[in-house]
Amino acid sequence: MTATTSLADAARREMAHLRNCIVGPDDPDYDVARAVHNGMIDKHPALIIRCSSADDVAGCIAFGRAHDVPIAVRGGGHNGGGLGVVDDGLVIDLAGLDSVEVDPSGERVRVGGGCTWGQVDRATAEYGRATPSGVIGTTGVGGLTLGGGLGHLTRRYGLTVDSLVGAEVVLADGSIVHASADEHPELFWALRGGGGNFGVVTSFEFLTHPTGATVMAGPTFWPIEQTPEVMRFFREFVPSAPRALTGFFALMTVPPVDMFPPELHMKKVAAIMWCIVGSEEEATRLLAPVHEVGTPLLHGVGAMPHPVLQSLFDGLYTKGLQCYWRADFVNELSDEAIEQHLEWGQKLPSMHSTMHMYPIDGAAHDVDSADTAFSYRDAQYAEVIFGVDPDPANAGKIRDWCVGYWDATHPYSAGGAYVNFMMEEGQERVRATYRGNYDRLARVKAQYDPDNVFHVNQNIHPAAGG
Ligand SMILES: Cc1cc2nc3c(=O)[nH]c(=O)nc-3n(C[C@H](O)[C@H](O)[C@H](O)COP(=O)(O)OP(=O)(O)OC[C@H]3O[C@@H](n4cnc5c(N)ncnc54)[C@H](O)[C@@H]3O)c2cc1C
Repeated sequence: MTATTSLADAARREMAHLRNCIVGPDDPDYDVARAVHNGMIDKHPALIIRCSSADDVAGCIAFGRAHDVPIAVRGGGHNGGGLGVVDDGLVIDLAGLDSVEVDPSGERVRVGGGCTWGQVDRATAEYGRATPSGVIGTTGVGGLTLGGGLGHLTRRYGLTVDSLVGAEVVLADGSIVHASADEHPELFWALRGGGGNFGVVTSFEFLTHPTGATVMAGPTFWPIEQTPEVMRFFREFVPSAPRALTGFFALMTVPPVDMFPPELHMKKVAAIMWCIVGSEEEATRLLAPVHEVGTPLLHGVGAMPHPVLQSLFDGLYTKGLQCYWRADFVNELSDEAIEQHLEWGQKLPSMHSTMHMYPIDGAAHDVDSADTAFSYRDAQYAEVIFGVDPDPANAGKIRDWCVGYWDATHPYSAGGAYVNFMMEEGQERVRATYRGNYDRLARVKAQYDPDNVFHVNQNIHPAAGG
């Protein structure tokens, strides 16, 4: 019997009520239970415990601390760096905390800490409303929210954290607290962008906002050679457009799916993926200038329920793909930077690989950099370079492209990166990302997790002296 197997056995003895929720290396479902979204991550925890209440989570934290093993917390398991799993440690899997309760007015939603956004989107859409999140339905509410949360509704309604009004949190000492503007306000400040550093969130309460029965959404594609023209249009057009409109820029390969004409399949393109919270007439009017740019290959904007938009890419970016990430915040999209994007876009190494540039202005700029832990409120875009391929043999190829592209464009960036688009770049990048908020985060960390129990994340070190 190995040491790691005996830890799972110890957990079964010490937490008998959870014995059916504990998975150790000798169990048949161990490989499934340890797998996260990124197929490049191959970590072997000592045990995984599937929790379904805050008390379960508190018991797991106490067990992990008593046995002095690293603790990872898994929400949706989407994190690029695989921060939802840890070698030789305990994984607290929150997937069982999956309740979604919309209040009768539809204006608030209470969400279990292990939910995915698709579950939330479907529930709030019943009321013609949504909480701003990302662009993929299978992403976890937990990790996305705690890092900030940006996507199709950011210009209109702000970051996900701007709609967070309360959270139930299990702290490192096992106590269960409620954080909001009035209760544990410093903790609440830190949760809005500071990641999983401060405790395990077992329930989130969000505001929802009107989207109507449908939003107007879909892409425009141009030949990749027209990248400079399209990017220059994008940098002028989106910031001056009403908040109801957003569009993220992408360099990508058209997937060979029925949704797109066969002659475009596997063609490298410059794209803008639009989302307009409004009617067809408004979308047509607002997007009229798009048709004057270059020679579009396709303009596929149409009405769809918000949950459909949110799940459009779920079938493309499925669990198990090899993924390598690099990211930056960007203030200005200079002509020099655009030249680099053209060069590296033409070198996209695989069908799934892409570069996305998400506008994070509009409502996200209404909040000051110091008002929440998310520091880059002044940035215009969050850029992510995403090397992706199903074949592990291509891991080196997508990583080299991703790093080469980042090296070429990072000099034109604002400095830090969105924590949820980072892998394990280390402390320097974490500090660069939190900038002036880092020291305050470190003080909150010293108060709520002085022993750094929650360190499998983009880690904030507790301030010396508490
Ligand atoms: C295909 C794809 C598309 C994406 N698109 C977007 C996007 O459009 N917008 C965007 O903002 N992000 C996007 N992301 C990034 C995403 O926000 C991060 O990967 C995020 O970390 C995922 O959260 P998770 O809960 O699924 O991850 P996990 O891997 O489970 O967790 C990530 C981190 O959060 C912590 N954590 C998770 N849940 C909790 C909790 N309840 N309490 C305490 N700590 C917790 C974990 O400990 C870990 O450190 C995307 C990711 C992928 C893979």
